Amino acid sequence: MPTGPPTADHDEADLRVSEPKRSAAGVPGVVASLRHARAQLGPARAARTLLAVNQPQGFDCPGCAWPDPGPTAHLEFCENGAKAVAEEATLRRVTPEFFAEHPVSELALRTDHWLGQQGRLTHPMLRPAGEDHYRPVSWDEAFDVVAAELARTAHPDRAVFYTSGRTSNEAAFLYQLLVRRFGTNNLPDCSNMCHESSGVALTQTIGIGKGSVTLDDVHEAELVVVVGQNPGTNHPRMLAALEQAKAGGAVVVAINPLHEAGLQRFKNPKRPRGVIGSGTALADEYLQIKVGADLALFQYLNRRLVELDDERGDVLDRAFLAESCEGADELVAHLRTLDPDELLAATGLARADVERVAELLATRSRIVVCWAMGITQHRQAVPTIREIVNTLLLRGSIGRPGAGACPVRGHSNVQGDRTMGIYEKPAEGFLKPIDQRYQFHAPRAHGYDVVDCIGAMRDGHAKVFVALGGNFISATPDSEITAKAIMNCGLTVQISTKLSRSHVITGEEAIILPCLGRSERDMPHTLDGSEVDGGRPQFVTVEDSMSVVHRSQGSRPPASPHLRSEPWIVCGMAAAALPEHPTLRWHAWACDHDRIRDEIEAVIPGFSDFNKRVRTPDGFVLPNGARDGANFTTGNGKARFSVDPAPEWAVPQGSFLLMTIRTHDQFNTTVYGLDDHYRGIHGERRAVLMHADDMQALGLVERQRVDLVSSYDRERVATDFFVLPYGIARGCVATYFPEANVLVPLHLKAEKSGTPASKSVLVSLRKR
Ligand code: SF4
Repeated sequence: MPTGPPTADHDEADLRVSEPKRSAAGVPGVVASLRHARAQLGPARAARTLLAVNQPQGFDCPGCAWPDPGPTAHLEFCENGAKAVAEEATLRRVTPEFFAEHPVSELALRTDHWLGQQGRLTHPMLRPAGEDHYRPVSWDEAFDVVAAELARTAHPDRAVFYTSGRTSNEAAFLYQLLVRRFGTNNLPDCSNMCHESSGVALTQTIGIGKGSVTLDDVHEAELVVVVGQNPGTNHPRMLAALEQAKAGGAVVVAINPLHEAGLQRFKNPKRPRGVIGSGTALADEYLQIKVGADLALFQYLNRRLVELDDERGDVLDRAFLAESCEGADELVAHLRTLDPDELLAATGLARADVERVAELLATRSRIVVCWAMGITQHRQAVPTIREIVNTLLLRGSIGRPGAGACPVRGHSNVQGDRTMGIYEKPAEGFLKPIDQRYQFHAPRAHGYDVVDCIGAMRDGHAKVFVALGGNFISATPDSEITAKAIMNCGLTVQISTKLSRSHVITGEEAIILPCLGRSERDMPHTLDGSEVDGGRPQFVTVEDSMSVVHRSQGSRPPASPHLRSEPWIVCGMAAAALPEHPTLRWHAWACDHDRIRDEIEAVIPGFSDFNKRVRTPDGFVLPNGARDGANFTTGNGKARFSVDPAPEWAVPQGSFLLMTIRTHDQFNTTVYGLDDHYRGIHGERRAVLMHADDMQALGLVERQRVDLVSSYDRERVATDFFVLPYGIARGCVATYFPEANVLVPLHLKAEKSGTPASKSVLVSLRKR
């Protein structure tokens, strides 16, 4: 039988520590998946629902954005995908009765884990100004409140419209249209906090802000470098792709401050050796680098490629450099000026280990480099990614089979949302077709990204906050400032499936608009709420990390008859808040996703015959010049080398460089459970991982309780953490977000991209 939600938040005495795992998935992963699904759904529903995940006629996993291998196998999900689906399809409900019983002030003391475990939201809810309880309202009443508040704003830029990466293409396209028709580009999204650095660096160097590989390229690579990424937890099906690449003779190099189980060995539960054998060894080389030292490492490696080319004459791909690149000579000259010993020292790595990796890079040309937040959430993330692109260009490893850049997206449609126009800095090339088709002049002034919108709300420049999905309050840095900023708003609106802290830390007035989940049947409704006669279940579309657009259609009965699809909710808000306009057909779009796709086809390049092509089993791939034969869309058709100075890093005495990480029981801010079983930490999330010698130097013992303190413009404290010895480089520590986000100042962000630098925060430890 499915179990009920927890009544109490967790007890601190539960902390248990065991040996970290040396392999990922396997039978334990299957057991964990089924146990979680059964607890939320019961065995029969769990089986039916999981069999539909990532299937051509099924629904897309609401987890990460790793692509589906074609042809799709029957069981096409990982442990964390199963948890994500089970959490969304849970039988637990958060009803008006729940809100009547629990005042917001009490709920605000709860953790995201406890709130998330209460279940699915069932009704539109309003928390009037000055009241401590939400009460149910009709959709029309809710839309009228939003419309009235937007009408009261002195200027469109005083409203902010946030998007989380779970939002479908159809909802994202309509949302940007609503927001631009309202008159602002205040469209921050979760991409600002994750791969914005990748988008900026790749657009500068290869002309497109997306990865340049297909799944087949990963399978066919000779060398796969996985840097600043923990796929075993954050993109688990990638392990099957690494296993396939290894079967084809590929070498895998892992670069990570932590020795992660999912980079060491993969026990594929679909293979006998993954069930009864030892599985597949993954990393052939494992560089346990210091936190934030990746730029130094790739500069060292690129300098070695130049030196090896001096010796051998065949390491740099001169034909490719001449034909397809610019700036190679300047880069080579720059690299020769760098001090290799200084670069190496910054990495904390042994020369021999790094030399072996340099040799691998020098002798293979089908090279794929994969990365994630461990690269993008640093102050020097953009130069680091440019240096990675330098490596690939020097070897001619972009725009050919088995080679390229592979930023792995952490949210199922975060790339699709950006393609649909969810961006605070839209290009003229995107806005012009909007002007032409919809006969209004879209705003040109750039809007707020995530960090800027928090500052604007804190300072009273923005008074309305609307979130299409996500858990803004927990996902963002500088938690105390962000909470004050949100509470400084007149109105906050959350379009959500489940309860989170973003529903209990709110503006003066707050609205919850409950939407359908991916796994649920979406029957067309008109904006007056009636189901369309003869209507057929609808599907939405998403775009994965490798630019594949495919459909997602849920079949489970909705958690409540009051739920509506995201596109319907956006149309409802728009019809209520915006003046009538002949080209903006919100009523028609609300009840027919095909019509929305016709609009997307008319405005966004690469979507011709959208409705026809997306109905094919594997969907279709969007154009990508860098991937498709090194046709770089950089203005002169050439890829650009980048020359960046060597990083200057000094960690003051007594301080440590902290990186925030996820447990294996978490997806972004959704906390499925309190275990991090790959790292051997159970029952507790307030744990800080530290090198045993650093603990000894500070006179700390295992499980000692400390506060973590960052001291930038002022002191920020994350209280009451257990210190645990762990295999991490000296001078570095790691702990989990969102608990540690309070330590990250708003201004600590990546240059050029504005991504919060949550992976390199200077902290000290204060004994309690
Ligand atoms: S790898 Fe990502 S998309 Fe695939 S099932 Fe797992 S969480 Fe879902």
